[in-house]
Amino acid sequence: MTRPIAYISNPLVRHSAERDPVALANAARDPRTAMVVLAGDLPILLAGEPGTSLLPASILDRLPGHQEQVFLGMLGDRPVVATLAAPETAESFQDDASLAVVDLRSIAVRGLVPAEELGLLAMAKSLLDWHRRHRFCANCGAPTQLAQAGFRRDCSACGAQHFPRTDPVVIMLITRGDKCLMGRQPRFAEKMYSCLAGFLEPGETIEDAVRRETFEEAGIRVGAVRYMTSQPWPFPSNVMIGCIGEALTDEITFDGEELEDARWFTKEDVRRMLEGTHEQFNAPSPIAIANHLIREWVKE
Ligand SMILES: [Zn+2]
Repeated sequence: MTRPIAYISNPLVRHSAERDPVALANAARDPRTAMVVLAGDLPILLAGEPGTSLLPASILDRLPGHQEQVFLGMLGDRPVVATLAAPETAESFQDDASLAVVDLRSIAVRGLVPAEELGLLAMAKSLLDWHRRHRFCANCGAPTQLAQAGFRRDCSACGAQHFPRTDPVVIMLITRGDKCLMGRQPRFAEKMYSCLAGFLEPGETIEDAVRRETFEEAGIRVGAVRYMTSQPWPFPSNVMIGCIGEALTDEITFDGEELEDARWFTKEDVRRMLEGTHEQFNAPSPIAIANHLIREWVKE
């Protein structure tokens, strides 16, 4: 079954103008509230076919000492609140067959919740992860406090305000006529090749990041670059910026550190990789933007 790219669909109305302590307190008290709970970085789901990550607010009674809460927005007339619970909480739910504690990548791959919930879960995971890891002021070292219904942390010692971060990553399919460049990292599943990717650096355009990363990883010079689409990637808080770039050179060189292999693939190769009928190579997962980029290129 082909799944849409994961985490791109998020039906929440964010209501960013209403992010204040009152909104968060009201939402947490509202009987209609849908509660999204992460035990550490693992979402807790109501099991089902499909299941859901939108839990009744009464779940909080089973989460003693939960840590931070964020008002994510409204789903129709239901406020949605994300709650961070201690990682050990996951164990206390293990005997309850009505609940499942599953990592967010598996939730997407296995289609355990409706596709629209994946974007909302990505948002919750990235925000709660940020709270978990930014308890102290980067400016003066004092403890910070959650503010703006969870979209800011404030330092009362020096007055600094800290905002949740999103780290941009460029991911690109580099093409040369009827062939495209893909590589594989040692951690990839067997036979899988995917688009090259890398972090955008400060003071760099998206286009230049595509050119630099491709040259660093595969020794290929890139000319024209065009943007295709993007994908939130909540591991922990990236946005993948999908591009197609035109190669100016043919000869691939790589140092074996980042990539263990890189090669040119024909459209016929890629078509068969997508179909799963290639004897030698596999395409990246359908939940990943890389799969979408090569699919679009094959169609062109
Ligand atoms: Zn401070």
